[in-house]
Amino acid sequence: MRRITILGATGSIGQNTIDLIARTPDAYEVVALTGGANIARLAQDARALGAQLAVTADPERLSELRDALAGSGVAAAAGPQALIEAASRPADWVMSAIVGAAGLAPGLAALQQGATLALANKETLVCAGALVLETARRHGAQLLPVDSEHSAVFQALIGEDMAAVERVILTASGGAFRDWPLSALQTASLAEASSHPNWDMGQRITIDSASMFNKALELIETKEYFGVDGDRIEVLVHPESLVHALVGFRDGALMAHVGPPDMRHAIGFALHWPERRDLPVERLDLARIGQLNFSAPDDARYPALRLARAVMRRGGLAGAAFNAAKERALDAFIAGRIGFLDMAAVVEAVLDRLEAEPGLIDAAMTLDNVLQTDHLARMRADQVMASRH
Ligand code: NDP
Repeated sequence: MRRITILGATGSIGQNTIDLIARTPDAYEVVALTGGANIARLAQDARALGAQLAVTADPERLSELRDALAGSGVAAAAGPQALIEAASRPADWVMSAIVGAAGLAPGLAALQQGATLALANKETLVCAGALVLETARRHGAQLLPVDSEHSAVFQALIGEDMAAVERVILTASGGAFRDWPLSALQTASLAEASSHPNWDMGQRITIDSASMFNKALELIETKEYFGVDGDRIEVLVHPESLVHALVGFRDGALMAHVGPPDMRHAIGFALHWPERRDLPVERLDLARIGQLNFSAPDDARYPALRLARAVMRRGGLAGAAFNAAKERALDAFIAGRIGFLDMAAVVEAVLDRLEAEPGLIDAAMTLDNVLQTDHLARMRADQVMASRH
């Protein structure tokens, strides 16, 4: 039996992971499930899967979780340190699907115990790529991408020599506002930004898709995971979301990964790797689909891409600053305090301010320094937003 832990079990990726393992329950022993506010879902899944431990990120909800698990034999715990302890419990495979930088420390803990880490949480590599890769190397842990684009690149590279790779192309649906006039974007509502044309995902990543901050994070994640220079990573708008990524080789060949927009493919690939097994995903009928469309992204519409390229050139702790500023700006957009286009302007202003703080971005990449940069970037984002009013 494979011992499995799911960090962020109550979210969109977590639920898709549970959907897959629940199909062959005898193959898995569930060590720990973690969640945040959704105690009912966490307790229900922990009971159904016979988990050893259920953890909520919120210490104030511990008694609610204990009550929901009463008589089940599942242990309950709460708080950020309990998340790290859950990730440290011996397991063979850990899904990292907490949203945001909060996923970094638990993900590192899973690598430190030598587990295979299936990485949906893109912020982990954006904030601390070198530290994460070095931790995996030191502990002999395998890191597998779950973001659909990175899983696609990973699959296109099987059996290939990285020296033969000329470029990597990430596709993007263009999000909710792809066809909106630019002038209408600033007044786009939360509800409008929270609906994705193709993918069914958590709210935060859905809004990040509309602004392309999601693709911006993925550019940085690609650079970190595959070691490809930022100027060799391209973005292509592809409204159908069927080609997830392409790898271009020195002989001119392009290897594309094509599949339905269903995260269970990338999750299942990481779950069964290095084998391929049956997955309950739609088989594409390309004759029926008929045509696939591609176009270059419009820089004016998606300033997040330009910012990501600057972050990749800058290196150091710029990724941690970028992500934290983005998370804070997104919080403010969700709370109705800033407009849709303000998010990129806030992030750019924070990056400029932090660049002016001597030694900050170039500090050594330790977990403490990453978390400190994250904290500072959030404070600066609040200051920038306050000064705009
Ligand atoms: P969701 O918002 O659906 O789920 C997030 C999970 O994290 C939930 O379990 C949530 O708990 C938990 N959580 C929220 N805040 C905290 C916190 N501060 N500390 C610990 N846990 C917390 O997100 P998604 O599943 O959509 O995304 C998860 C990650 O995977 C993100 O990094 C995203 O970018 C990435 N990803 C997602 C894809 C998708 O298709 N959804 C595709 C590719 C990558 P609760 O809900 O109980 O509050």
